Amino acid sequence: MAVHRWADRALLFLFDPTCVACQAPLTDRRIGPVCAHCWSAIHPTPPTELARAAGIYEGSLRNIVHALKYGGHASLARPLGALMRDAAGDWLDDAAVVPVPLHPWRSVRRGFNQADLLACELGRPVWRALRRTRLGRPQAGLHAAERRANVSCLYAMRRVRSRHIPPTVILVDDVLTTGATADACTRVLLEAGVQQVRVLTVARAMRRT
Ligand SMILES: [Zn+2]
Repeated sequence: MAVHRWADRALLFLFDPTCVACQAPLTDRRIGPVCAHCWSAIHPTPPTELARAAGIYEGSLRNIVHALKYGGHASLARPLGALMRDAAGDWLDDAAVVPVPLHPWRSVRRGFNQADLLACELGRPVWRALRRTRLGRPQAGLHAAERRANVSCLYAMRRVRSRHIPPTVILVDDVLTTGATADACTRVLLEAGVQQVRVLTVARAMRRT
């Protein structure tokens, strides 16, 4: 993981870089692969009782998440993690964080699990309690009902001793879209004895009214 971050940052200094979110020339390379304008254009989401996010999944934040996930810009996990810490607020006082797992094949191809990188930036113990049982189809492009069917039985607990189960956990992922993945993971954690699962993501898809 450290190598990915290093390589990502090093490339900024080797080439004439442009912002990975808007393609404008980067005038200040020290702030990383995203320009200051894109960082400031993130729209906050209203928090709900069990879900908080750094911003709405649109515009620059959507582009930044894509750069992390599909563009290999692992160094973005740090500033995105800082935004998530702000959004989480008092949630981080007492909870362990659980990253949504990727299937190992997908992690190998991408080089990292973005949810795991983000979880590591939250300053709380990271509890890798979940594993993915099979590859499944990617969720992107599926409708809500298809997403639910796609993720049912996709997640399971790693073997843990029951005395190690924390009462409250924060499930961490990059994007909350329909909530199908979060629901599937939450069900598994509650069955294992966790009392409350909160969901923290970089971005949340909001239906426009
Ligand atoms: Zn930009």
